[in-house]
Amino acid sequence: MRVFRTFLLEALRAQHWLVTLSEAKGLCRWESLGKLLRFFASLRMTINRGSVSGWALFVAVAGAALAGEYDCDVAVIGGGSGGFGAALAAARLGLDVVLVEKGDCLGGTSTRGGVNCWEIGCGGTGIPFDLYKELKKIPKAVGIYTFGRHAGTFDPSRESFRYPGGETVIDPGRRYLDTLRRHIPRGDKNSPEYRRAHFHGLPFEPEAMAKTMRAMLDATGHCRVWLNTAFVSAEANDGRVRSIQLSNGSRLRARHFIDSTGDGLVCVAVGCEAMTGQEPCGRFNEPTAPTNATARVNGVTLIYRITPGKEPAAENTPVKCWWAGRFPSAQINHLPNGDLNINMLPTMEGKEFMQLGYDAALAECQKRVRAHWRYLQNYAEEFRRFRLVWIAPALGVRETRRIVGEYVLNENDLLAGLSGQKHPDIICLADHMMDTHGGHSKHRGELTEPYGVPYRCLIPKGFRNLLVACRASSFSSLAASSCRLSRTMIQLGQAAGTATALAKELNVDLPAVPTDRLRSALREQHVQLEHPMPAALRSHLERE
Ligand SMILES: Cc1cc2nc3c(=O)[nH]c(=O)nc-3n(C[C@H](O)[C@H](O)[C@H](O)COP(=O)(O)OP(=O)(O)OC[C@H]3O[C@@H](n4cnc5c(N)ncnc54)[C@H](O)[C@@H]3O)c2cc1C
Repeated sequence: MRVFRTFLLEALRAQHWLVTLSEAKGLCRWESLGKLLRFFASLRMTINRGSVSGWALFVAVAGAALAGEYDCDVAVIGGGSGGFGAALAAARLGLDVVLVEKGDCLGGTSTRGGVNCWEIGCGGTGIPFDLYKELKKIPKAVGIYTFGRHAGTFDPSRESFRYPGGETVIDPGRRYLDTLRRHIPRGDKNSPEYRRAHFHGLPFEPEAMAKTMRAMLDATGHCRVWLNTAFVSAEANDGRVRSIQLSNGSRLRARHFIDSTGDGLVCVAVGCEAMTGQEPCGRFNEPTAPTNATARVNGVTLIYRITPGKEPAAENTPVKCWWAGRFPSAQINHLPNGDLNINMLPTMEGKEFMQLGYDAALAECQKRVRAHWRYLQNYAEEFRRFRLVWIAPALGVRETRRIVGEYVLNENDLLAGLSGQKHPDIICLADHMMDTHGGHSKHRGELTEPYGVPYRCLIPKGFRNLLVACRASSFSSLAASSCRLSRTMIQLGQAAGTATALAKELNVDLPAVPTDRLRSALREQHVQLEHPMPAALRSHLERE
């Protein structure tokens, strides 16, 4: 009995060593130094005690770690909104999670891409609400906005100039519940008065968001976060991903894999079918899709930020818009500290982005940002009281490829709404309008009610231990233009992470996870699956 107890204790300690070593290899940064010191302290304790079982285990796990071989329950690849939701949900349910992110922080498009705003919309009641509550503890990290001026509603009797796009301003009187109210029963949702009264989103500080995501994952005690580590390739057979190869030379095996790379990179590497461009209307019987397939994808934006202050006039920057007839309008969000976040609509058309490739597109967009900023300064005196303080390090990419899953969400789902959909496996709600930026949607205006996203949209066709939880999930091009919002992505991740825990508990493959069990688990985690919102969920959200 005593030998067994000693063995168990040493096994736990050995697992800690493995975690320490793997984090050190994965991070390769200053923060790993502290962990290595902790590792050597543990090692000295064991040597002092001279435990044979401990030594044996230590040699085994350290050998594996140094050889670059790791195991876990769930490997989440990509630490953006979807990946964060997936890793947190699985780790909170006790699974051993590794989250692999190629960038130097978490949050993806919503932090490094400068999309520092959660758009208004239903859904967003599970992990996003927990995240909001944590952010609120940090001064000026998050606010709630109300619509301000808009080019389309310019009123010369009240405004000195036509705003160069749309503006949102921080509204301290608003609460989280207000941000979930895109669908309320009466009113003209396209009118400016309605928008000012009812449309409220959440701007946030990207650094605070990335740190809070990390702290929440660390608090579970079950998630290893490997930053600056990229997915390189995958090994799969018989409908299962076996392992993935990472840029730090290591190999990661897992029971389940969740592709949250935004681009479906893991899925493509293992041979899943992918869609790009616009599908023809015949493929999913979408009423407003084009007759023939097109190569059009949603535009990309390089977001920038201005702060109150003066800067010298940028004499050498061209004032003419060389890539379009005129400078694009912009969505300009006030941030809680008074800075403005500027989101050109868009900086580059999706087709041009796909042709140029990421690096060339980023370099070209950096030039366009400077030109756009100079244009704004010339356009209105108000902007001359600001200076350019930040250009997002990553391009804001709205759409690349989407993976064909067990079900493909399409325009018919969006138009039918929750009351008209017959799917038994809905795992989150959404209601954003079809918002294509590249101008290829004929459907304009708001949807009439929220719609649901089925669990099958996360299951790449033919795969048994792989899910895709990000903007590359199984959506038609038109559905993706509505569904891609950050909070929706977090909720897709939350469903994916929860599904992996159920699959482990029931010892079944991911497509066989009972969807009634999955939906019950999500309801327990305060995910909204009904519309209108149940009273109990509303009272949970009132306690912010
Ligand atoms: C310009 C723009 C404006 C938008 N405006 C809004 C808005 O106002 N409100 C809103 O709610 N939504 C908005 N959206 C949509 C929303 O921000 C995105 O759709 C959402 O953030 C995507 O989340 P994701 O998890 O799918 O992908 P991402 O956030 O892009 O995450 C993917 C992650 O995977 C990582 N990754 C990629 N390749 C690898 C690899 N090989 N190895 C390891 N990691 C890898 C990336 O570094 C990244 O961190 C906007 C999007 C854009 C582009």
